[in-house]
Amino acid sequence: MANATHEIVIIGGGSAGIATASSLLKRRPELDIAIVEPANLHYYQPGWTMVGGGVFDAPVTARPMRDVMPSAVTWVQESAASFQPEIKQVTLQNGDTLHYRLLIVAAGIRLAWEQIEGLGQSLGAHGVTSNYRYDLAPYTWQLVKSLKQGRALFTQPPMPIKCAGAPQKAMYLSCDAWRDAGVLGDIDVQFHNAGAVLFGVDAYVPALMDYVDRYGIDLNFGSTLTAIDGPARQAIFKTADGEITRDFDMIHVVPPQVAPDFIADSPLAAESGFVDVDQFTLRHHRFPDIFALGDVGSMPNAKTAAAARKQAPIVAVNALAVLDGHAPVCDYDGYGSCPLTVERGRIVLAEFGYGGKLLPSFPDWIIDGTKPHRLSWLLKSEALPWIYWNGMLKGHEWLVKPKPRLTPNPRQAA
Ligand code: FAD
Repeated sequence: MANATHEIVIIGGGSAGIATASSLLKRRPELDIAIVEPANLHYYQPGWTMVGGGVFDAPVTARPMRDVMPSAVTWVQESAASFQPEIKQVTLQNGDTLHYRLLIVAAGIRLAWEQIEGLGQSLGAHGVTSNYRYDLAPYTWQLVKSLKQGRALFTQPPMPIKCAGAPQKAMYLSCDAWRDAGVLGDIDVQFHNAGAVLFGVDAYVPALMDYVDRYGIDLNFGSTLTAIDGPARQAIFKTADGEITRDFDMIHVVPPQVAPDFIADSPLAAESGFVDVDQFTLRHHRFPDIFALGDVGSMPNAKTAAAARKQAPIVAVNALAVLDGHAPVCDYDGYGSCPLTVERGRIVLAEFGYGGKLLPSFPDWIIDGTKPHRLSWLLKSEALPWIYWNGMLKGHEWLVKPKPRLTPNPRQAA
């Protein structure tokens, strides 16, 4: 069993973990940082909607992990298994331990496929697909291209999920392809949403409803997928009136999502299972030398890579302040973004913070986020992937430079 010590240990080398390491190193290049990350590949998950819509090829959304790891970082290619915060220690799956002065948790969210009975056996065959997996997003497009008539179901589980708009993005892009092929009228498209509204921020709903009407989508709220029989092509939903069964020719499933088990079972967890942090400073409520960001945090923001892009520099600045014996100096406003691909070539660009406050990056006369826009599509299809690989992951904080507060933080002391 090996034992190592680093100034900063980051758990997870996904969008949030790599961006934070790069932002830290930009400010203090000599920092001793270790990233614990078991995976060989790093994914640009926002691209999977485009793969499912036949716009991107899957491989453009993946790169070798070694290529995105900042060269100054020690990459520990293992899984974190448990935390001992009282002695500033993380235990890894192989029994090794890491000690830290400061810990940053960025381990993402867990896709709970097993919560839907029969789904595991059906995924990737019998018309059952999901853009939430790299290997399955191409199957979505294959199904869309081959479907000429019948019934297509799209599902959305209860919140929280990463990219709350992704379930309907898959549906709109599919409908657009069917409209193009002249077969939309022969396909019964149904959206089964466990929630009660189409989108959580009212300002974007009228534009989305316009597309729902245009595509003739049958909206079902309070309808939660509970089981699938792939070979029989049947899906079962729980509703307020009891169970309903729907036959399908294709079904796009978004799985329920929960905190990773090793987080939920740890002393770091809030009641929700996610890491219990202050929603503004992103510092742990009980352990002052721990921060969390990205999908694994307990903050009530929309879980998106766009949110992680805004959070990473804030965590970097606050973590350095704490290392230096000061209180956190920056606040996160809850910014998240969801580019809703309503048709090939147009996007409703939802950008908002805590409490549903609209936080557009551009003035209305350039992009009015509440309306479908061609420029937003260019942003999603061309600019954002480039900004992700070359900006966010490399510590360039375009449009997200944190602004330190002028007065001390009333909530957290050093
Ligand atoms: P991740 O990027 O998932 O990284 C978590 C990392 O932690 C992984 O590398 C994992 O291997 C690692 N890890 C897990 N367990 C352990 C462990 N035990 N020890 C160490 N490491 C561990 N966001 C947008 O901004 N815009 C979009 O349009 C958008 N669309 C999306 C569409 C789809 C289909 C999906 C699936 C996601 C989409 N997102 C979008 C959401 C976005 O991808 C996530 O919010 C973002 O990746 C979160 O970053 P993260 O670092 O928290 O998690």
